[in-house]
Amino acid sequence: MKIIRTAKQMQKLACELKKQRKTIALVPTMGCLHKGHLSLVTKAKKTAAKVIVSIFVNPTQFGPKEDFKKYPRQEKLDVQALEKSGADIVFLPKAADIYPNNFQTWIDVTETTKKLCGASRPGHFRGVTTVVLKLFNITQPDFAIFGKKDYQQLITIKQMVRDLNVPVKIIGAKIVRESDGLALSSRNTYLNGEERIIARRLSTALFSLKKLSQRKKLNPKAALDYLKKEITHDKLVKIDYVDCLDSLDLMPVSTIVQGKTLVAIAAFVGRTRLIDNIIL
Ligand code: AMP
Repeated sequence: MKIIRTAKQMQKLACELKKQRKTIALVPTMGCLHKGHLSLVTKAKKTAAKVIVSIFVNPTQFGPKEDFKKYPRQEKLDVQALEKSGADIVFLPKAADIYPNNFQTWIDVTETTKKLCGASRPGHFRGVTTVVLKLFNITQPDFAIFGKKDYQQLITIKQMVRDLNVPVKIIGAKIVRESDGLALSSRNTYLNGEERIIARRLSTALFSLKKLSQRKKLNPKAALDYLKKEITHDKLVKIDYVDCLDSLDLMPVSTIVQGKTLVAIAAFVGRTRLIDNIIL
């Protein structure tokens, strides 16, 4: 497995792979890798001849009061895990290389970012789409794999690619969960023992809402009321948002359509903000 640390070297290598007619799949990550990330690598390996994994804690997608500084970083362990997973190239750029002096170009997807995390984390998706487009230009992928755990991110990237004619096929990968249902996340490392137990409330509430919606006709408001009640049973959990939207374009819905309606949650468990979602 090759380790590449500069954008220039990475772009050169990607261009060589293209000349050799190798297909490339990119898996963008912020590191602190877990089985969720590694499932994307597995999917990428089935999709393309060469798999590039980027590890970059992107400063521009964090708000001024968010956890950029304390975000977990473990480069050595990540490289070992990627070596085992069969990735071909790890791209580990520095922030000054991605955002050189006088950087002034931003990508802003206006509609899919209005609700959910876009509403509670102003500027977050502008940082995400800008860095992802840069990573696409640097690594020249044919495919890029994104987890459905960050559902709004996946839809927003798909929209950007469509709007800007970016020649990359975006592939969504299913959410990988702990045995009790908690979606794997690098931020789960922030949870203490008690919080970790309580954190499973997010997924159990989503699963039980899905079951309920299959038994009983619910409107979006009733579904969200049910979810709020289930999640805030414990005082350590504070809801940031719950919403019911069309899973294709993240627009509001007036009825729940099985297989189409997305329910998304963000909640603080103690001081840790977790997200999860389900398609009913
Ligand atoms: P991150 O390092 O958190 O930016 O995530 C990098 C990629 O891994 C994103 O496409 C995420 O959606 C995906 N990912 C993170 N957690 C999971 C999970 N539990 N299951 C599937 N994909 C995930």
